[in-house]
Amino acid sequence: MTSWKLAQTYKELPTMFYAEVALNKVEAPQLVLLNGQLAQELALDVEELKSQVDVLAGNEMPAGASQIAQAYAGHQFGHFNMLGDGRALLIGEQQTAYGLRDIQLKGAGETPFSRGGDGRAALGPMLREFIISEAMYALRIPTTRSLAVTVTGEPVFRETALPGAVLTRVADSHLRVGTFQYARQFGDVAHLEALADYAIARHDADLVDAPNKYAQFLQRVIQRQAKLVAQWQAVGFVHGVMNTDNMTISGETIDYGPCAFLDTYHPEIVFSSIDRNGRYAFGKQPQMAGWNVARLAESVLPLLAEDEEQAAHIAQQALNTFPQHFNEEWLNLMGEKLGILHVSSADGALVKELLELMTQFEADYTSTFRALAEGDYPETPLFEAGEFFDWEMKWQQRLRQEERSFADVQAQMQAVNPIVIPRNHLVEEALEAAEMGNLALVQTLLEVLRDPYALAPQHARYAQGPEDDKPFVTYCG
Ligand code: AMP
Ligand code: MG
Ligand code: MG
Repeated sequence: MTSWKLAQTYKELPTMFYAEVALNKVEAPQLVLLNGQLAQELALDVEELKSQVDVLAGNEMPAGASQIAQAYAGHQFGHFNMLGDGRALLIGEQQTAYGLRDIQLKGAGETPFSRGGDGRAALGPMLREFIISEAMYALRIPTTRSLAVTVTGEPVFRETALPGAVLTRVADSHLRVGTFQYARQFGDVAHLEALADYAIARHDADLVDAPNKYAQFLQRVIQRQAKLVAQWQAVGFVHGVMNTDNMTISGETIDYGPCAFLDTYHPEIVFSSIDRNGRYAFGKQPQMAGWNVARLAESVLPLLAEDEEQAAHIAQQALNTFPQHFNEEWLNLMGEKLGILHVSSADGALVKELLELMTQFEADYTSTFRALAEGDYPETPLFEAGEFFDWEMKWQQRLRQEERSFADVQAQMQAVNPIVIPRNHLVEEALEAAEMGNLALVQTLLEVLRDPYALAPQHARYAQGPEDDKPFVTYCG
């Protein structure tokens, strides 16, 4: 079996893009969770990894590796700030059959970008990121992955003392919209160009020799983000903190802080304790993603054309495609959820009507779609409403145009409408037990979430919504 094969390509960028950081050793690291499947994808030996708790906790580097903190800026709730990895170390890029994968240790101590923070993370939030990112992966949504969680043996101080932990995060890259904002704000055009060339080499290698590669690259990122957010909307995921530093160039979902999945459907839902104005409410996510990619377009303007006006024109044209891409993706995904494979714009009205009924009757988002897919309706206010009956008639009529048997339609719907999602009450319950030293619930939850379109009878409770309907609040870790 192979082991670490870490490249250090990020360090070939101009030095303004990173800081070398000394290791911040921890007292008594212990492995808590290891993702065997991901280890295999990375060609890492699971047994060897288990013995490398000092690497996973940031106490030592594998041979040939060295750790850096990445520099970036970003708009946080609309305000531009200089940021950078304040508690994460990039230890290198694992060379795999599928290309390079960033290996990052999150919670590994102070860096020059810590801005007064302790550089540390608590066990609960790191397990939360592990669970939700792996659930997103199983739901086929692009995401950073989670390889391991270790505890440090040291407390971190939030409102109370909590066990400290380090998450090993794996990503196609950690390049962010905010990395480009940083280059534009604090570097010159050569720096910006070096960054764009690096991003193109990693994510859009087919564009390396394209004559208008930067315009095409911008277009690609816009497309990836439109598609990603359409997937979030279709599954009912609220990111919670869509700041430009939390938006990747690769199109992966990143930074699982105050995120959550909808139980009851409502477009204005907000979970995050810090999002007081609902900037990142569920229904606003497409618009905010559009705002974020506009910040990317602004940042790369000098690369798009020599002439300023022409550059602005190219950027604007690319940005204008965002709503189009989003709407197309969203309609395709929502159509699939309703068994409609060849959507027309008229189907949008059918989808929206259902969502409006779900809002009116406070329906559970995931269970409602799954019930439609199974053709088995529980006794909920939605399914007992005359308005739903009217809608269902229209839907059934529309399905007849699909020219597939009803059994085929149902099978297809069941393949895209999950039974289980990482529901807030299940995640919280598992994390509470883990903080008391019992990881069994985390393990079971992960196992159930790994196959979200099926559910063993003994795990029936994982498909249920919460018993009470008290508003759920998430906090930043
Ligand atoms: P986030 O809201 O997670 O995207 O983080 C925003 C910024 O705050 C990033 O630059 C993080 O690295 C930094 N940050 C978050 N938590 C800490 C911490 N405990 N210590 C130092 N920096 C932190
Ligand atoms: Mg972040
Ligand atoms: Mg965060």
